[in-house]
Amino acid sequence: MALIVHKYGGTSMGSTERIRNVAKRVAKWVRAGHQLVVVPSAMSGDTNRLLGLAKEISDRASPRELDMIASTGEQVSVGLLAIALQAEGLESVSYAGWQVPIKTDSSFSKARIESIDDVRVRADLAAGKVVVITGFQGMDPNGHITTLGRGGSDTSAVAIAAAMKADECLIYTDVDGVYTTDPRVVPEARRLNSISFEEMLEMASLGSKVLQIRSVEFAGKYRVPLRVLSSFTPWDIDLDVEAASGTLISFEEDEKMEQAVVSGIAFNRDEAKITVVGVPDTPGIAYQILGKVAEANIDVDVIIQNVSHDGKTDFSFTVHRNDYARTMELLQTNVVPALGALQVVGDAKICKVSIVGIGMRSHVGIAATMFRCLAEESINIQMITTSEIKTSVVIDEKYMELAVRALHKAFGLEEARAA
Ligand code: ADP
Ligand code: ASP
Ligand code: MG
Repeated sequence: MALIVHKYGGTSMGSTERIRNVAKRVAKWVRAGHQLVVVPSAMSGDTNRLLGLAKEISDRASPRELDMIASTGEQVSVGLLAIALQAEGLESVSYAGWQVPIKTDSSFSKARIESIDDVRVRADLAAGKVVVITGFQGMDPNGHITTLGRGGSDTSAVAIAAAMKADECLIYTDVDGVYTTDPRVVPEARRLNSISFEEMLEMASLGSKVLQIRSVEFAGKYRVPLRVLSSFTPWDIDLDVEAASGTLISFEEDEKMEQAVVSGIAFNRDEAKITVVGVPDTPGIAYQILGKVAEANIDVDVIIQNVSHDGKTDFSFTVHRNDYARTMELLQTNVVPALGALQVVGDAKICKVSIVGIGMRSHVGIAATMFRCLAEESINIQMITTSEIKTSVVIDEKYMELAVRALHKAFGLEEARAA
């Protein structure tokens, strides 16, 4: 008997029919002798719909109330799934995050899980129940409901698996695993049987939304055996076949993802670029600009400071698009006058495209191949950032798909490679 955590995403929970299917699949695992904790997302579209309602009323809704609203999608899902499981003849109980409780910090809309008390859940499992817990939500030290950021149900599932020392965490989604890039953008993308933890971490942090970044971080920190697989296979396929399907996140230190130099391509449309123009080129400039941004709790990603001319320079960086207006306002009111800069200009229509691969460590010229490929497509690179196992470029959003397809081809990712 194993303790298994299943997570089902929004599309997998997208209708009552699909929820019945989820229940049948879960029942198959229970009847095979396993204990199951199931973490569903809100039904697809629900979280956007709920946040849209709030936006209809105000553009400046309080983060606490937004979390109160957004968290309800998952509450509907757990209730429906518990009913579907009961209809399958299983005993099942559903919990909201605060009932478990899943405790988080107070950063509404991007809260971090701090602890999970598994006593209640263990007692239910021991009593033969399937426990269904809301994804995406928790409770802060003051008893307020919080949410974990978009796509956060992945993190709930992995954190629960970590806290309970589950034997495995299975992330069921609408694709049958992790691909070399988003298969919806590049139909030739290839599914990977396994991907190293490090590469998955990079892919997720660079925009591959198949797993939320924090879920990968949790998996790494607590060594949670993690697999991404399809919820759209027939629910009654052989359990062992299902258990070995999809993509395993591997913790083998030196296992290169199928020996590739470049293993995958990620892209991110959620960023915006901001440039402070004509800043005096003196020590402390980066601190004076980014210090203010950090104080406002705004995360900065790619940063570039240009060569100075006549003692002045331009300083560019990217932030999440949700923080764009706030950052522009902050710079205009606080930073530009204080520094005597000329102006602030912004561009929200950019995207970041990244190549990722552990193999890049030991190969030179990979970035050059990337730049040549983009040049051949006449795509202008606005910013570049590199690390040992990734190179990212910021380009005009309208070239995103072209860039991803061209790079996927240039690095031969569509071709089957010997493992
Ligand atoms: P869920 O609702 O199940 O959490 P998501 O929409 O959050 O599903 O994540 C699954 C989606 O991630 C897929 O439908 C796919 O379009 C996208 N995706 C992006 N990059 C990748 C990748 N490298 N491999 C697989 N899917 C990817
Ligand atoms: N329902 C939340 C969202 O849409 C969380 C999730 O689906 O993982 O972002
Ligand atoms: Mg998701």
